[in-house]
Amino acid sequence: MSYYRYDTHCHIFTLEYAVKEAKSICIELAKGKYPFQWPSSGLSEDSRNAGTKGRPGWREIYELLVQLYELLSAALTSEKENLQFLDEEMKKAYPGDDPRIVPLMMDIFYIIARPLDAGEDALPALRTVSDRIDMQPEWEKALDALANHIREDRVLRGGAGNRAVDTSELLPMLERERVLEDEAEEKRLLGAEPSVYSRRFDFHRTKGYCFHMDNLMSLVGSNPGSLYPFVAVDARRDGIVDAVCSGGFFTGKERFYGVKLYPRLGCHPLSKPMFRIYEYCQANNLPIIFHCGMGGFPPSEKWAYADYGNPVHFESILQKYPGLRIDFAHMGSSSSSMAWKDAVMALVNNYDNAYTDFSCYTDPDELARMKTTYWDANPKLHERLLFGTDFDVMYFTGRVTMQSYYDSFKKVFNGEMDRIMHDNPARFLGIG
Ligand SMILES: [Zn+2]
Repeated sequence: MSYYRYDTHCHIFTLEYAVKEAKSICIELAKGKYPFQWPSSGLSEDSRNAGTKGRPGWREIYELLVQLYELLSAALTSEKENLQFLDEEMKKAYPGDDPRIVPLMMDIFYIIARPLDAGEDALPALRTVSDRIDMQPEWEKALDALANHIREDRVLRGGAGNRAVDTSELLPMLERERVLEDEAEEKRLLGAEPSVYSRRFDFHRTKGYCFHMDNLMSLVGSNPGSLYPFVAVDARRDGIVDAVCSGGFFTGKERFYGVKLYPRLGCHPLSKPMFRIYEYCQANNLPIIFHCGMGGFPPSEKWAYADYGNPVHFESILQKYPGLRIDFAHMGSSSSSMAWKDAVMALVNNYDNAYTDFSCYTDPDELARMKTTYWDANPKLHERLLFGTDFDVMYFTGRVTMQSYYDSFKKVFNGEMDRIMHDNPARFLGIG
C-alpha cells in the first residue's frame, strides 16, 4: 500500500503572477482607487521610505518587482511545472510513496496600501477620482529595468543544483504586460467563461490574484487527491471575507482546504473582519496557516508591519476558538532572536489547536539545533510539527537543493519523518 506524504507549506506561483498583480496596483493607483499609503519603513533595503511620498514611481515599482523576482527565481515557468517538480523531488526522497502538496496562495496586492490595524473595521471603499495619474510611463520604466536585471542575472539562485531555470520565457512575458489598460485584454477578461473559477465569486478582482487562483484550481481539477491549496485572505480585499464565509471555496472538485494569512503585509490578525474568518473556519473544520516569521516578504526586519505576524497576537484567537487549528508557520523563522520561537513553543504547549512548521530551515546545523532545543524537550510538539519545504522561497538562501533539503530533514528527524510528513499534517488538515 502506498503511503501519503505531505509538503504542508509550499508555493507554486510564478513571476507572471507577481507582474500581473503589480500591474493591477498601478492601474488602480492611476484611477485613485488604490488605498495607497506609503509604508513608514523597510520597503526597500535601505529603509529610506520616510512616509512622505505621494505615490510610487517607477523605481519603487521596480524594486518591488525585483524583490519578488528574487523570491520566485526558482519558480519562473508555470504552476504546473512547479507542481511536477515538487512531486518528482518528493518521489526521489521517498520512492513508492504518494506526494500530497499543500500550495499556499499569497495576497500581495495591499503591500503599499493603508494597513488594517487591530480592532479596525474594513477599509472604506474609494471612489474613482476624475484627476487620474498617468502611471503608464512609470510602469514601462519599471518593466524595462526589470528586463535588464533579468538579462544581467545569468546565475539565478534557484538555478543552482537540481533546479535548472529557463529565463527565456520571462522577457516575452514582460512584453505582453506592457500596456496598463489594455482594452482588448479587459474585454477578454470580462467576456471570460463564467466557468472560470474566480468568476464564481464576488470579490475585488485583481489580475495576479485571479490568474494564480484560476491556475491553481484547474490543477486541483486535473490532479485529484494530490493538491490541498489554501486560499489567501487579506481583509482589505473587498468581498473576500464574504466569499470565504459563503463556503464556495471549500466544496466541489476544485476546492481549497484552508485559509492562508500573511499579517506582515498589513492586515492585523485582530482586525474586526478577521473574526468572521476564524468563526467560519472553526465551524467548518478548516485550518489556518499564517506566516509567523520576523523576516519574510518584504525581506527587511524593519518592515513597517512586521509585528503584525507576532505570535502573541494569536493567543486570544486560540483561546476563543479552541476548535480552530492554526499553523504558526516557520516557527518564528530563522532570525537570530529566539523570542518568537519561544512564544510559539509556549502556545503549542498550552493550546491543543496550535501547530507549527519548520519550513525554510535550509541550514542543517540550525535544523539540528531546532530539533534538540524544541522537539526533544517538548513532547507536545511531536503531535503538532508539520513538514514543509517552503518551495520556492527556500532557494532564496542559495545554499540548498530540494534533495539536500530532504536529506537534512531525514538525517535530523530520522524515524520521526512519518509523524511530521503524514500523521500531523493529516490531523491538521482534518482529512485523515
Ligand atoms: Zn511560505
